[in-house]
Amino acid sequence: MSAVETGMRGRCPACGEGQLFKKFLTFHDFCEACGADFRIEDAGDGPAVFVIFITGIFIIPMALAFYLVTGLPMIVTILLFSVVIIVASLWLLRLMRGIMFSLQWVNKAREVRLSDVRKAAKIEKDSNEGPS
Ligand SMILES: [Zn+2]
Repeated sequence: MSAVETGMRGRCPACGEGQLFKKFLTFHDFCEACGADFRIEDAGDGPAVFVIFITGIFIIPMALAFYLVTGLPMIVTILLFSVVIIVASLWLLRLMRGIMFSLQWVNKAREVRLSDVRKAAKIEKDSNEGPS
C-alpha cells in the first residue's frame, strides 16, 4: 500500500494494519498492531492549508453555480453550502492528516535539529577544504 493510500484509509504508515485515529481527528499514541510511535506526528497547519485550498477551489464555485442555476434566494445558498463546507472540511481534514502523517513517516521528515545544522556545516567545510 502506498503512503497516500495508507493515510487515506487512516492506517498505520509502518504496518498498514493498525488504526491511526482514536477519535475523529486525534491519533493513537502507538500503533495497536506494530507499536509504531505516532507521537512524532508534526504536520502543523499543513492539512488545514490543503483543506482551505480544496474547499475554496471546488466548493465555492459550486455554490455560485448553484445560486445562479436555481435562482433561489442567496440565504438558501449560504445556509446550504455552509453545511456542505463544514462537513467537507472535517472529512478532508481527517483525510489530509492521515496522508500527511504517512508521507512524513515514509520520508522520515522531522524538524531540523542543531545536530543537523552542525553536520551540514561540517560537510560544507570539508568540501571547501578539499583533499590535502
Ligand atoms: Zn503499525
